[in-house]
Amino acid sequence: MPLRFYNSLTREVENFVPLVPDKVRLYTCGPTVYNYPHIGNLRTFLFEDLLKRWLLYRGYEVNHVMNLTDVDDKTIRNSRQQNMSLREYTDIYKKAFFEDIATLKILPATSYPAATEYVSQMIEIIQDLLKKGHAYETEDGVYFKIATFPSYGKLAHLDPTSLKAAASGRLSADEYEKDSVSDFALWKKWTPEDGDVKWPSPFGEGRPGWHIECSAMSLSLLGETIDIHCGGIDNLFPHHENEIAQSECHTGKPFVRYWLHATHLIVDGEKMSKSKGNFYTLRDLLERGLSPRAIRYALITTHYRKPLNFTFDLVKQAESSLKRIDDFLFALRQVQREGEASSLLHEAFLTKKQAFEEAMDNDLNIAEAMGHLFEMIRIFYEHESHATKTNAQEIMDFVLSLEKVLGFIEKTSPDTLTPEEEALFQARIEAKKNKDYAKADALREELLKRGIEVRDTPQGPVWKRL
Ligand SMILES: [Zn+2]
Repeated sequence: MPLRFYNSLTREVENFVPLVPDKVRLYTCGPTVYNYPHIGNLRTFLFEDLLKRWLLYRGYEVNHVMNLTDVDDKTIRNSRQQNMSLREYTDIYKKAFFEDIATLKILPATSYPAATEYVSQMIEIIQDLLKKGHAYETEDGVYFKIATFPSYGKLAHLDPTSLKAAASGRLSADEYEKDSVSDFALWKKWTPEDGDVKWPSPFGEGRPGWHIECSAMSLSLLGETIDIHCGGIDNLFPHHENEIAQSECHTGKPFVRYWLHATHLIVDGEKMSKSKGNFYTLRDLLERGLSPRAIRYALITTHYRKPLNFTFDLVKQAESSLKRIDDFLFALRQVQREGEASSLLHEAFLTKKQAFEEAMDNDLNIAEAMGHLFEMIRIFYEHESHATKTNAQEIMDFVLSLEKVLGFIEKTSPDTLTPEEEALFQARIEAKKNKDYAKADALREELLKRGIEVRDTPQGPVWKRL
């Protein structure tokens, strides 16, 4: 089965075929750098990271553009409140964003354009939309006239009749709800609230609207039609709907072929909000002692189209799942048996590997894929006594290769014991042989005190540094 994704535009799972074979042009809406990203934002960025990693695993070349929104209503409002220049203020949060994605092992994008560097391209698009009659100028700005684009609403699946009735007003705000369908601002003329944030333009000094920013950056860096555009579900309307309208009226070509959206994250079953005290940034979680690896695991292993209920318990479960994987890799490394591979283990491995890959090909069903990985682990332990080095090696190679996809597989380096520790370990083997279990237990305790855990396996005892 080919790779397939759920396309928000058609509301169907479709086979993925990029415009140019083997090459994917991917645009993901980046952070608005006015604050630290919260874990809901990070869930979306991690879903996009998983998508990109899977495309790479499947052999695609990915040109990934993620923008930084460094001018909009929120960045201007907050920088003014802090008496800082827009640049000074947004630089703080750009830096924080890059720190957070590095902590979570999110692969870097090919480019990170900042909106303020693309204002001239935005002005060009607005001029063209004015010329073609898709936009009009008012006292306070330039607006996109949605009545001139009959397929407005195709992404959000708006009802065309209600669209007609609703499309009478216009809104300058960057964000609004579905029931206020209206003409939206492409350019906002300068007002005193904007302070010194302004650019010259043929339609007066001012600044771009939020939506035009992504159209301009996507067009400039990836071309008129791109393969995949992602974002959080809350970006679908009005942001993405408006991006389609502007871009398609400007180029006359389809803007995006596959739209993928990550669903909401909730915390303890409730919408995250500062007033409820359940609002978390990555920094909040790290301060509580949670590990970035477990946070990554917890945020990535729920399917992106399912609501993710984030709890501290979920991170605890992630820790124990990670330990199970670590222990498994350790057990594989201990297999010493020479000779032909057990065909039962070999067959089970192939079946589970294929099942993992098929689940991921099916709209990135990571929850199911992880189920197959744990099933592979269970089968191995069940037949551990038959395992040979050949079995262990092929399984280990696969699990380690999944680091490229999952970003939480750790290749713990094979360790050695000091001569003294080795002597204790051998003495315990000797004691067991002599059925002196009390002595064997005491030696196990002694090793544990030194941070070495001993486990008896069907192939003899193995040790692990804790
Ligand atoms: Zn965007």
